[in-house]
Amino acid sequence: MQINLKGYGSAPGISMGEVFIYNSNKNLPVEKFDIGDIEAEIKRYEDAIIKARIEIENLYGKAEIELGKEEAKIFHAHKLILDDPELNKRIKKEIKEEKINSEWVIKKIIQEYIEIFEHIDDEILKNRITDIKDVLNRVIRVLLNIDSNSLININKEVILVSNDITPSDAMHLEKNNILAIAIENGSIASHASIIAKTLGIPAVIGVEGLTENINDEDILIVDGFNGNIIINPDIEALDEYYEKKKKIIRNKELFNNYFDKETKTLDNKNFKILGNIATIADSKRVVKNGGEGIGLVRTEVLYMNRTKPPTIDEQVDIYKNICKNLDGKPVTIRTLDIGGDKVISYLPMKKEKNPFLGYRGIRFCLGTESLFKDQIKAIYITSASENVRIMYPMVTTMKELESIEKIENEVKEKLDRKNIPYNRNIKKGIMIETPSAAIQSDDFAKKVDFFSIGTNDLIQYIMAIDRENQSLKDLYSYYHPAVLRIIKTIITNAKNNNIEVAMCGEMASTPELIPILALMGLDEFSVAPSFILQTRYIINNINLENINDKLDYVLSMDKACEIKEYLNSLYKENIDI
Ligand code: PEP
Ligand code: MG
Repeated sequence: MQINLKGYGSAPGISMGEVFIYNSNKNLPVEKFDIGDIEAEIKRYEDAIIKARIEIENLYGKAEIELGKEEAKIFHAHKLILDDPELNKRIKKEIKEEKINSEWVIKKIIQEYIEIFEHIDDEILKNRITDIKDVLNRVIRVLLNIDSNSLININKEVILVSNDITPSDAMHLEKNNILAIAIENGSIASHASIIAKTLGIPAVIGVEGLTENINDEDILIVDGFNGNIIINPDIEALDEYYEKKKKIIRNKELFNNYFDKETKTLDNKNFKILGNIATIADSKRVVKNGGEGIGLVRTEVLYMNRTKPPTIDEQVDIYKNICKNLDGKPVTIRTLDIGGDKVISYLPMKKEKNPFLGYRGIRFCLGTESLFKDQIKAIYITSASENVRIMYPMVTTMKELESIEKIENEVKEKLDRKNIPYNRNIKKGIMIETPSAAIQSDDFAKKVDFFSIGTNDLIQYIMAIDRENQSLKDLYSYYHPAVLRIIKTIITNAKNNNIEVAMCGEMASTPELIPILALMGLDEFSVAPSFILQTRYIINNINLENINDKLDYVLSMDKACEIKEYLNSLYKENIDI
């Protein structure tokens, strides 16, 4: 019987196939036994640590080559966990005092971690327990002489279903015939999601009830676009998804023809399509997909999975590497945007009742000045030789902009004193992602070189709905009249002040909205790399003059559902895909 489940689409694409249920650690046969020779057991444990370290180093090298330096850092973090002196001391102490075998002690410690983290409602910390479990289970597997990854042995095309997937598991995904992954736990920010996305494997995570409803060799459809999971689909569902898949393949071929075309409508209006990225590897994907630059580098990712912030030199190195890949095309570096759902454990962040309404984005940076200065300095130093723009997130007041300027001037003075070159005319922009910035956009436009509309946040603040709250997701609408009207206001204010205006929220890649955003006068669409060519295809196949009168009509409508229906039909009339 067909069962429909819902999770979050964390890597786009559709796959159907046979299920392979994977749980690398559940069945590790750990038994407790007394040991006679304590010294020999300690030696056995220490030897296992050495072997585990070699395995992790090998994975680190492999990840660096296949995924890029940034993604590989997770295995550096694994080495730090493995070599944690406190943890090692504790394990040895328990072996000595209780005279029991190493694997049993480690299993007990893993269980303790699980119990502590079970009650913590924080995605980042939950990811951390996945890493700790991954490392400690590796040591157990070495102690038991069990091959470190059974994923290597899959020899047919399958859909991987699991409770959770560790970064080490994820590293073995590509070599195997993994058509898609479906995970019961996990989060969009989890490493497994990021790696799946980078490798282009469709993934759905957070699928409640997945493992209890599924058996080996069931047939599964995974829709990484919208998070749909269908177990044992009926004929209609199979037909529907075969059609969808065929269409995706057809469209992909069609979009590829637009790889090196200028982004220009049929009536010769020019636009630019850029990519949103978080890592150096992502920047290569932008190039591979014909991006005209990078409209958003989410730099917070550089600060994650570490024990302290990246140094100025480390940052310059990463920014330059990204720019080199882009070969002179513009790269928009957004300064650290943490808070909300993005927590970094080593930074001074307080627990807040409403973190999305709290100490996040520019508020955090202005309150953590030396960290902020270091990042601005790194971006300025990069600007001496590369085409970078600097962009500040979550601005809400003019006073914040003044504080930013004061810090910028101090950084410039310091660089000047040391004769360190930078681009004195570096383009400076702000994200418009709060209602206050949107309403005051005419004032802000007089102070900066460009805007980038962050619709992911802007909508949550306009609609007073947490962007991650699934039960209210219908209220989170790109089509709400208030959302469209405020976007029009921002674009008009930018144009009246002769500054460029981009959009880097997910709304920019929503096909039905692209024509209307183009009509509003948006200059740049910054989208996930895999959406670049589709966005260009849509723009290059629309004649804005022909639909010019539709904008006022849409802006006069007063219901999201009607606007959506109208824009869908307008899209279908004009775009043939
Ligand atoms: C946005 O808010 O639209 C945006 C692009 O920023 P982020 O999703 O990183 O908050
Ligand atoms: Mg945002």
